[in-house]
Amino acid sequence: MTDMLSENETEAHVDLFSKFDPLIEMRRNLLASGVEDPFNLVMERVLSPTVAVCNGRETILLGTYNYMGMTFDPDVIEAGKQALEDFGSGTTGSRVLNGTYAGHKAVEQALCDFYAMDHAMVFSTGYQANLGIISTIAGKSDYIVLDIDSHASIWDGCKMGDAEVVPFKHNDIVAMENRLRRIPAEAGKLVVLEGVYSMLGDIAPLKEMIAIARKYGAMVLVDEAHSMGFIGPNGRGVAEDQGCLDQVDFVIGTFSKSVGTVGGFCVSNHPKFEIMRLVCRPYVFTASLPPSVVATAATSVRKLMHAGKKRAHLWENSRTLHKGLKDAGFQLGTDAPQSAIISVIMPDLERGAAMWEALLHEGLYVNLARPPATPANMTLLRCSLCAEHSAEQVQQIIGMFTRAGKAVGILG
Ligand code: PMP
Repeated sequence: MTDMLSENETEAHVDLFSKFDPLIEMRRNLLASGVEDPFNLVMERVLSPTVAVCNGRETILLGTYNYMGMTFDPDVIEAGKQALEDFGSGTTGSRVLNGTYAGHKAVEQALCDFYAMDHAMVFSTGYQANLGIISTIAGKSDYIVLDIDSHASIWDGCKMGDAEVVPFKHNDIVAMENRLRRIPAEAGKLVVLEGVYSMLGDIAPLKEMIAIARKYGAMVLVDEAHSMGFIGPNGRGVAEDQGCLDQVDFVIGTFSKSVGTVGGFCVSNHPKFEIMRLVCRPYVFTASLPPSVVATAATSVRKLMHAGKKRAHLWENSRTLHKGLKDAGFQLGTDAPQSAIISVIMPDLERGAAMWEALLHEGLYVNLARPPATPANMTLLRCSLCAEHSAEQVQQIIGMFTRAGKAVGILG
């Protein structure tokens, strides 16, 4: 208990920002080395899904989530313009009050058709979809069993709810089963997995993992943020590709990657799923997506149903880049290409930042990723390919990496 303070006394002032001092110091040291700030780049103009102007120069984009290149699709743009004219710039309300327009229902129907599932619920972001669904379905005395490398939005969803959280080693089937075995048989259980893990671009052995989850009576949620639109015969994701989508209770996805706009969703066949619209706080207590956004999303989702050629070209790009970088001598996050993400492992943050800058000077943008976003304290240059990258651009990219790698001393 604090003693009562007399009128002229004050307690010691604690600056709540002092906890950030180590990070501030680290940033100061990095920038003092003369390197450009990798977390403050401005896209001055965007010319296409694969080219933007940064620092006044044309730059190939290899660090976006625009996997299917839908951001400049003429039909998508037209749908957005039309909705802006017909419905205005925003809904100014929650989905459960005044914020459900015809467009929100249309995009939910497009998602039901895309996944061949009964229910779809659209959130304002994918982050909120994970936050909402996970925190709402797993409650007090339930258990969430999840991969330790899960996305921040999954962890935050766990933190927001009341369930017991049990992580297991990344993609480790045995470790997952050991955790499930120790949970009381009568308890409610949710297993949370991702199709593609976005830091290294590796996929999960969903078929085996989901079979085990089922054996222990757990429900299964799979975040297919980085696979939707691209992986699987119909672009439904890794679960479709591995033939186990019918065993998944909840698929989480986002409009901010292959779909090319912003928004998040959950699709499910659970017969009681619609009740989520009344009990899921990150759905209820926030404004719904603008009409132009849901219109672009619905058009894009419908076009992605028939994008087999684009998917094949993106796989081709992924294979070519993976081989080109590996042959050049770079250490990659996966032995073989598993997704549209190819991660190049850097020896440390300093050389990672120097390499990032050298690539930018070459005219190439990639993502610099570092802890805590990365596993095992790694610094990564994350390359994410687009179906609109041409074969020539991919060859150019390999050349840029090779020159920059030599200049920075990462390649011999
Ligand atoms: N899940 C995963 C696996 C992600 O990588 C991301 C975003 N990078 C999200 C969810 C959140 O998506 P959004 O951008 O729509 O919030």
